[in-house]
Amino acid sequence: MKFENLGLSQPVLQALDLKGYDTPTPIQAQAIPPVLEGRDLLGIAQTGTGKTAAFMLPSIDRLREADNRIPFKSCRMLVLAPTRELAGQIAQSAKDYGAMAGLKVQSIVGGTSVGKDRNKLHRGTDILVATPGRLLDLIDQKAFNLSGVEILVLDEADQMLDLGFIHALRRIHQLAPAERQTLFFSATMPKAIKELVGQYCNNPVQVSVTPAATTAERIDQYLFMVQQDEKQTLLEMILQERHQVPGKFERVLIFTRTKHGADRVVKRLSQIGIPANAIHGNKSQPQRERALAEFKSARTPILVATDVAARGIDIPGVSHVINFELPNVPEQYVHRIGRTARAGADGIAIAFCAEDERDYLKDIRKNTDAEFERLPLPDNFRAVVEGVGPTKRAAPGQRTRVSPKPRGAPRPQGEAASQPKPKQKHPSRKGKPNRPGGFRGKPGGGSRRGSGGRRGPRAASA
Ligand code: AMP
Repeated sequence: MKFENLGLSQPVLQALDLKGYDTPTPIQAQAIPPVLEGRDLLGIAQTGTGKTAAFMLPSIDRLREADNRIPFKSCRMLVLAPTRELAGQIAQSAKDYGAMAGLKVQSIVGGTSVGKDRNKLHRGTDILVATPGRLLDLIDQKAFNLSGVEILVLDEADQMLDLGFIHALRRIHQLAPAERQTLFFSATMPKAIKELVGQYCNNPVQVSVTPAATTAERIDQYLFMVQQDEKQTLLEMILQERHQVPGKFERVLIFTRTKHGADRVVKRLSQIGIPANAIHGNKSQPQRERALAEFKSARTPILVATDVAARGIDIPGVSHVINFELPNVPEQYVHRIGRTARAGADGIAIAFCAEDERDYLKDIRKNTDAEFERLPLPDNFRAVVEGVGPTKRAAPGQRTRVSPKPRGAPRPQGEAASQPKPKQKHPSRKGKPNRPGGFRGKPGGGSRRGSGGRRGPRAASA
């Protein structure tokens, strides 16, 4: 299947050519023909499946074909997205895909100047990508209206609901013209979403790309059983290559459940000389943008994020997703690990599970079909955690004595030896070495007495 076979116009095909895409992803192959026909669409898919192009490409063609004038203080296509980051990415895609079609694209998101948004929307636009709150602000100020909307897209509707946008979405539905095409995307289909679909869509064509099936194939998922207050030590040892995990580090995205937790991880990493940024709701828009830009350029290739802030992050080359804390909602796990293995690449997800997170792990296994391969803790982990390990006294500038294991090194002895040996599970990885990689911090820096700093014996793994 090629894009040429889907009925898209020459300008759109040229734009795709420029981006180097020639084969549609499954959701694109299924969604583009009915959207070109003007049908409403319900797409059950998460980010990473190519859904942005699935709705953007045919919509661009429909806008071109209808060739209506840009409406004053309104737009012809409205795309609603839950977060600023996702809105920014969709707007960029719209610009890329619509480059040859001459369509005007704007985006408005919270946390920026409302006055500027008012000015830029005064003359209207072809495509507007917006977060719901900012859009309603402008509508309430009579700076914008929805009367010109021909195509309405809800992207990541379940996330918008999670963020409390239900009333905003109900209002927007009432304000938009009844005569329109609606394209509705959600990774999950809880009851509230089904109700929204019923309101928004008219006999939609349903296409579904189940997240578990798409992610499980390309993401190797590993698991450490580790106590909560020892997770930081384990993270540091992994990032410093003092404990080998599969895959070569390019960009590592680390998830915590709370903003405070994200800041704490960043602070502790910086104390041992590993630069990292945090991205969460308490960060200002410029701070978030800077963190993302540094992550994208791999200048600071470690980003610690909360679920909300990381929604919609689409950065090629995320080699590892580390779940420092497990999410309490299984779908969130799928969202998280979906940040790696973008656009057909392989990816690695590593989960740290503490004793009191076992129920979350059970839920994740049950609801997502995730298959984990358990990894042993470092053989010297107990000593390092208790502050008596060999890295404890490594002088600045001196290489840690616990050096990364060379490829094919014997399995660890002692406590770790009793753990199951990682096996080659995924045919796609056969023959690929599990290359270690690391971010160099101050040698010996990880010798801080673990994250908890508590002494005394305890079980290394649950
Ligand atoms: P999305 O699910 O829309 O966030 O897209 C995930 C990533 O896949 C983005 O980086 C897209 O640019 C990329 N992508 C989308 N469609 C294709 C395609 N047909 N071929 C290769 N990459 C694609």
